[in-house]
Amino acid sequence: MTDGHTGGEDLREAWDDLVATARRTAADGLVVGTSGNVSVRVGDLVLVTPSGVRYDRLGPGDLLAVGLDGRPRIGILRPTSELPLHLAVYRTTGARAVVHTHAVHATAVSTLVDELPAVHYMCAALGGPVRVAPYATYGSQELAANMLEALRDRTGCLLRNHGTVVHGASLDQAYDHTAQLEWMCQVWLAATAAGTPTLLAREEIDRVGAKLRGYGQRP
Ligand code: 13P
Ligand code: ZN
Repeated sequence: MTDGHTGGEDLREAWDDLVATARRTAADGLVVGTSGNVSVRVGDLVLVTPSGVRYDRLGPGDLLAVGLDGRPRIGILRPTSELPLHLAVYRTTGARAVVHTHAVHATAVSTLVDELPAVHYMCAALGGPVRVAPYATYGSQELAANMLEALRDRTGCLLRNHGTVVHGASLDQAYDHTAQLEWMCQVWLAATAAGTPTLLAREEIDRVGAKLRGYGQRP
Protein backbone atom coordinates (compact mmCIF):
# COMPACT_ATOMS: atom_id res chain seq x y z
CA MET A 1 0.00 0.00 0.00
CA THR A 2 1.32 3.45 -0.82
CA ASP A 3 0.02 6.91 -0.31
CA GLY A 4 0.77 8.34 -3.72
CA HIS A 5 3.86 10.18 -2.50
CA THR A 6 5.98 7.36 -1.17
CA GLY A 7 6.82 3.86 -2.30
CA GLY A 8 5.91 0.77 -0.29
CA GLU A 9 9.59 0.01 0.17
CA ASP A 10 10.14 3.39 1.91
CA LEU A 11 7.27 2.62 4.24
CA ARG A 12 8.50 -0.87 5.07
CA GLU A 13 12.00 0.46 5.82
CA ALA A 14 10.59 3.27 7.97
CA TRP A 15 8.42 0.77 9.88
CA ASP A 16 11.44 -1.48 10.57
CA ASP A 17 13.40 1.57 11.83
CA LEU A 18 10.46 2.64 13.99
CA VAL A 19 10.11 -0.81 15.58
CA ALA A 20 13.90 -0.98 16.18
CA THR A 21 13.84 2.47 17.85
CA ALA A 22 10.83 1.57 20.01
CA ARG A 23 12.58 -1.64 21.10
CA ARG A 24 15.69 0.37 22.01
CA THR A 25 13.66 2.59 24.37
CA ALA A 26 12.61 -0.56 26.25
CA ALA A 27 16.02 -2.29 26.07
CA ASP A 28 17.80 0.84 27.37
CA GLY A 29 15.37 1.24 30.27
CA LEU A 30 13.71 4.46 29.05
CA VAL A 31 10.27 2.80 29.28
CA VAL A 32 8.75 -0.19 31.05
CA GLY A 33 5.93 -2.39 29.74
CA THR A 34 3.91 -0.68 27.02
CA SER A 35 4.74 2.86 28.16
CA GLY A 36 5.97 5.40 25.63
CA ASN A 37 5.45 5.62 21.88
CA VAL A 38 7.38 6.42 18.71
CA SER A 39 6.45 7.87 15.32
CA VAL A 40 8.14 8.69 12.03
CA ARG A 41 6.87 10.80 9.15
CA VAL A 42 7.09 9.54 5.56
CA GLY A 43 5.62 12.07 3.14
CA ASP A 44 2.03 12.76 4.19
CA LEU A 45 1.88 9.67 6.38
CA VAL A 46 2.80 9.28 10.03
CA LEU A 47 3.81 5.75 11.08
CA VAL A 48 3.08 5.21 14.78
CA THR A 49 3.43 2.49 17.40
CA PRO A 50 0.11 0.85 18.33
CA SER A 51 -1.49 1.48 21.72
CA GLY A 52 -0.75 -0.98 24.51
CA VAL A 53 1.31 -3.46 22.46
CA ARG A 54 4.74 -4.59 23.64
CA TYR A 55 7.40 -3.66 21.10
CA ASP A 56 8.84 -7.19 21.00
CA ARG A 57 5.48 -8.36 19.64
CA LEU A 58 5.58 -6.02 16.63
CA GLY A 59 6.51 -7.41 13.24
CA PRO A 60 6.63 -6.26 9.62
CA GLY A 61 2.92 -7.10 9.16
CA ASP A 62 1.82 -4.63 11.84
CA LEU A 63 2.64 -1.48 9.85
CA LEU A 64 0.36 1.25 11.13
CA ALA A 65 0.01 4.70 9.55
CA VAL A 66 -2.31 7.68 9.84
CA GLY A 67 -2.61 10.90 7.84
CA LEU A 68 -1.60 14.27 9.29
CA ASP A 69 -5.32 14.68 10.08
CA GLY A 70 -5.15 11.53 12.24
CA ARG A 71 -7.35 9.43 9.95
CA PRO A 72 -6.31 5.77 9.65
CA ARG A 73 -4.47 5.06 6.38
CA ILE A 74 -2.71 1.71 6.81
CA GLY A 75 -3.07 -1.12 9.33
CA ILE A 76 -5.67 -2.52 11.69
CA LEU A 77 -4.19 -1.90 15.15
CA ARG A 78 -5.30 1.11 17.21
CA PRO A 79 -2.69 3.86 17.12
CA THR A 80 -0.95 5.14 20.27
CA SER A 81 -3.18 7.08 22.63
CA GLU A 82 -0.67 9.95 22.32
CA LEU A 83 -1.52 10.47 18.63
CA PRO A 84 -2.56 14.13 19.35
CA LEU A 85 0.91 14.84 20.73
CA HIS A 86 2.74 13.28 17.75
CA LEU A 87 0.50 14.97 15.16
CA ALA A 88 0.85 18.35 16.91
CA VAL A 89 4.63 18.14 16.41
CA TYR A 90 4.37 17.22 12.70
CA ARG A 91 1.76 19.91 12.01
CA THR A 92 3.91 22.68 13.51
CA THR A 93 7.54 21.66 12.80
CA GLY A 94 9.60 20.02 10.06
CA ALA A 95 10.31 17.05 12.36
CA ARG A 96 10.62 13.58 10.83
CA ALA A 97 10.44 11.58 14.07
CA VAL A 98 9.06 11.82 17.62
CA VAL A 99 10.04 9.72 20.64
CA HIS A 100 7.99 9.76 23.88
CA THR A 101 9.28 7.93 26.98
CA HIS A 102 8.68 7.63 30.72
CA ALA A 103 12.45 7.71 31.49
CA VAL A 104 12.89 7.59 35.25
CA HIS A 105 15.20 10.54 35.95
CA ALA A 106 13.43 12.80 33.47
CA THR A 107 10.06 11.92 35.01
CA ALA A 108 11.43 12.62 38.50
CA VAL A 109 12.77 16.03 37.38
CA SER A 110 9.38 16.85 35.79
CA THR A 111 7.86 16.82 39.29
CA LEU A 112 10.45 19.21 40.77
CA VAL A 113 11.07 22.21 38.48
CA ASP A 114 9.56 24.20 35.58
CA GLU A 115 12.77 23.94 33.56
CA LEU A 116 15.77 21.59 33.76
CA PRO A 117 18.60 23.90 34.95
CA ALA A 118 21.51 24.18 32.49
CA VAL A 119 23.91 21.86 34.31
CA HIS A 120 25.44 20.58 31.07
CA TYR A 121 26.21 22.05 27.65
CA MET A 122 24.34 19.22 25.86
CA CYS A 123 21.07 21.04 26.53
CA ALA A 124 22.18 23.11 23.51
CA ALA A 125 21.48 20.03 21.34
CA LEU A 126 17.80 20.46 22.22
CA GLY A 127 17.81 24.23 21.65
CA GLY A 128 18.52 25.33 25.25
CA PRO A 129 17.29 24.66 28.79
CA VAL A 130 14.51 22.07 28.59
CA ARG A 131 11.07 23.20 29.84
CA VAL A 132 8.46 21.19 31.71
CA ALA A 133 4.95 21.24 30.16
CA PRO A 134 2.11 21.59 32.71
CA TYR A 135 0.36 18.34 33.55
CA ALA A 136 -2.64 17.16 31.56
CA THR A 137 -4.17 13.68 31.20
CA TYR A 138 -2.28 11.30 28.89
CA GLY A 139 -3.58 11.25 25.32
CA SER A 140 -5.47 14.56 25.67
CA GLN A 141 -5.48 17.52 23.28
CA GLU A 142 -4.68 19.63 26.35
CA LEU A 143 -1.45 17.68 26.88
CA ALA A 144 -0.53 18.19 23.22
CA ALA A 145 -1.17 21.95 23.53
CA ASN A 146 0.88 22.19 26.75
CA MET A 147 3.69 20.26 25.07
CA LEU A 148 3.75 22.57 22.01
CA GLU A 149 4.12 25.61 24.28
CA ALA A 150 7.02 23.96 26.16
CA LEU A 151 8.67 23.00 22.85
CA ARG A 152 8.91 26.62 21.61
CA ASP A 153 12.47 26.99 20.15
CA ARG A 154 13.31 23.55 21.54
CA THR A 155 13.29 20.02 20.12
CA GLY A 156 12.50 18.41 23.47
CA CYS A 157 10.56 18.96 26.68
CA LEU A 158 9.47 17.17 29.82
CA LEU A 159 5.80 16.42 30.54
CA ARG A 160 5.02 17.04 34.22
CA ASN A 161 4.45 13.81 36.22
CA HIS A 162 4.71 11.87 32.94
CA GLY A 163 7.93 11.77 30.88
CA THR A 164 9.80 13.12 27.83
CA VAL A 165 8.98 14.17 24.27
CA VAL A 166 11.76 14.76 21.75
CA HIS A 167 11.54 15.31 18.00
CA GLY A 168 14.28 15.19 15.42
CA ALA A 169 15.31 15.03 11.79
CA SER A 170 15.45 11.22 12.08
CA LEU A 171 14.51 8.42 14.48
CA ASP A 172 18.19 8.11 15.48
CA GLN A 173 18.42 11.80 16.34
CA ALA A 174 15.15 11.84 18.30
CA TYR A 175 16.27 8.72 20.18
CA ASP A 176 19.82 10.01 20.88
CA HIS A 177 18.54 13.35 22.17
CA THR A 178 16.03 11.53 24.39
CA ALA A 179 18.90 9.53 25.91
CA GLN A 180 20.93 12.77 26.37
CA LEU A 181 17.96 14.43 28.06
CA GLU A 182 17.50 11.51 30.46
CA TRP A 183 21.25 11.59 31.20
CA MET A 184 21.18 15.36 31.91
CA CYS A 185 18.26 14.86 34.29
CA GLN A 186 20.30 12.20 36.10
CA VAL A 187 23.27 14.59 36.33
CA TRP A 188 21.07 17.36 37.78
CA LEU A 189 19.51 15.02 40.35
CA ALA A 190 22.96 13.77 41.40
CA ALA A 191 24.38 17.31 41.62
CA THR A 192 21.47 18.73 43.61
CA ALA A 193 21.53 15.74 45.98
CA ALA A 194 25.19 16.51 46.72
CA GLY A 195 25.10 20.33 46.77
CA THR A 196 24.26 23.39 44.66
CA PRO A 197 25.36 22.93 41.04
CA THR A 198 26.86 25.75 38.98
CA LEU A 199 24.85 26.51 35.85
CA LEU A 200 25.86 27.58 32.33
CA ALA A 201 24.98 31.06 31.04
CA ARG A 202 22.62 31.43 28.08
CA GLU A 203 25.43 32.90 25.90
CA GLU A 204 27.54 29.77 26.42
CA ILE A 205 24.61 27.50 25.53
CA ASP A 206 24.08 29.51 22.32
CA ARG A 207 27.82 29.26 21.52
CA VAL A 208 27.70 25.48 22.02
CA GLY A 209 24.54 25.25 19.90
CA ALA A 210 26.39 26.84 16.97
CA LYS A 211 29.47 24.66 17.53
CA LEU A 212 27.42 21.45 17.70
CA ARG A 213 26.20 22.06 14.16
CA GLY A 214 29.74 21.18 13.02
CA TYR A 215 30.25 18.39 15.57
CA GLY A 216 31.58 14.98 14.52
CA GLN A 217 32.85 13.80 11.17
CA ARG A 218 32.54 15.74 7.94
CA PRO A 219 29.66 14.47 5.81
P1 13P B 1 0.22 3.96 24.27
O1 13P B 1 0.47 2.50 24.62
O2 13P B 1 -1.23 4.21 23.90
O3 13P B 1 1.20 4.47 23.25
O4 13P B 1 0.40 4.83 25.60
C1 13P B 1 1.58 4.84 26.33
C2 13P B 1 1.87 6.19 26.89
O5 13P B 1 3.01 6.47 27.20
C3 13P B 1 0.78 7.17 27.11
O6 13P B 1 1.29 8.40 27.54
ZN1 ZN C 1 3.29 8.45 28.19
